[in-house]
Amino acid sequence: MSGKTELAGLTEAETAAWAKEHGMPAFRGRQIFQWIHRGADFSEMTSLPADLRSRLAEEAVAQPVSIRLERVSRIDGTVKFLYALADGNCVEGVLMRYHYGASLCISTQVGCRMGCRFCASTLEGRVRDLSAGEMLGEILAANRYLQEKGEKDRVSHVVMMGSGEPLDNYENVIRFLKLLREENGIRMSLRNVSLSTCGLVPQMRQLAGEDLPVTLCVSLHAPNDEIRRRTMPIANRYSMDEILQACREYIEKTGRRVIFEYAMADGVNSAPEHARELAGRLRGMQCHVNLIPLNVVKERDLRGVREETVRQFLETLKEEHISATRRREMGDDIEGACGQLRRKTLQDGKTAE
Ligand code: SAH
Repeated sequence: MSGKTELAGLTEAETAAWAKEHGMPAFRGRQIFQWIHRGADFSEMTSLPADLRSRLAEEAVAQPVSIRLERVSRIDGTVKFLYALADGNCVEGVLMRYHYGASLCISTQVGCRMGCRFCASTLEGRVRDLSAGEMLGEILAANRYLQEKGEKDRVSHVVMMGSGEPLDNYENVIRFLKLLREENGIRMSLRNVSLSTCGLVPQMRQLAGEDLPVTLCVSLHAPNDEIRRRTMPIANRYSMDEILQACREYIEKTGRRVIFEYAMADGVNSAPEHARELAGRLRGMQCHVNLIPLNVVKERDLRGVREETVRQFLETLKEEHISATRRREMGDDIEGACGQLRRKTLQDGKTAE
């Protein structure tokens, strides 16, 4: 690493303190903070004297993430980014357009160590955690992209569903969430932020007590522990009962419903009896089930399901009075699934631009 200070990871007060330590008045720090959250690099901070801007660029980093590659879906305009980090690593992000605005899926780690059998992000394990500044930087880079395209929208919703297990990078994720709320920063409501976990129970409990009311999404992918253990190693550590109990606590403390993700794989978890079993487990909970037809990863041996199977599963859940939808697939033509673009780029040995 460069040894430069990553200012994007600091709060406004911390940036002001950093400025003072470096011989500047505190208000300069606040200016820098606000510029960073607007996506500016030091050279673009026009309210700062030119000599200060070049001195800052030698000591610190304003924008820790840049876009190395982008792919735009011809189907729905979804954009997949390959983000470059300062140390040469890369992660993925996906920008989706909805009627309510732009939603960005961000990564929280380079790689992942959870080992889910259907997922491409975890094939080479975890390389490192992302810092809070890097997670924010993914949003800032997407906002710059939108600005350069002349679009009015900026990222208004964030889902932490890219590569990595957010609760395996707990401290940085919490710092990132607090940065989103900073008064003079990008000021995103945490109601517009979703955090997806494979079910790290102690951290789910801890999150419930943080007073950071994000939408909690839990990758369940099975109606019972036996099936869950076939695809998710983490199921050997925490049982579904413990996970569901932690979800109930989360609902109680935050007043928010929990979303369960359920990726359907042929011959594993997709029969109507599985839907009934799942409904039995979830009954009485303030929750919603998101069905995802498995996105086939060529290195993995799991198969996807037919549309008819998804429809039947959905019907069964509804008959059992469980709120459920089939997740809309976006950017199907641009390797939208976790970790696939990064992997392809690593394998092709492709370089930027
Ligand atoms: N580690 C977190 C978040 C990252 S993955 C978690 O496990 O929730 C985001 C979602 O995509 C998870 O529900 C994950 O299980 C799912 N996923 C990963 N690979 C997939 C694939 N090939 N097809 C469908 N869903 C997949």
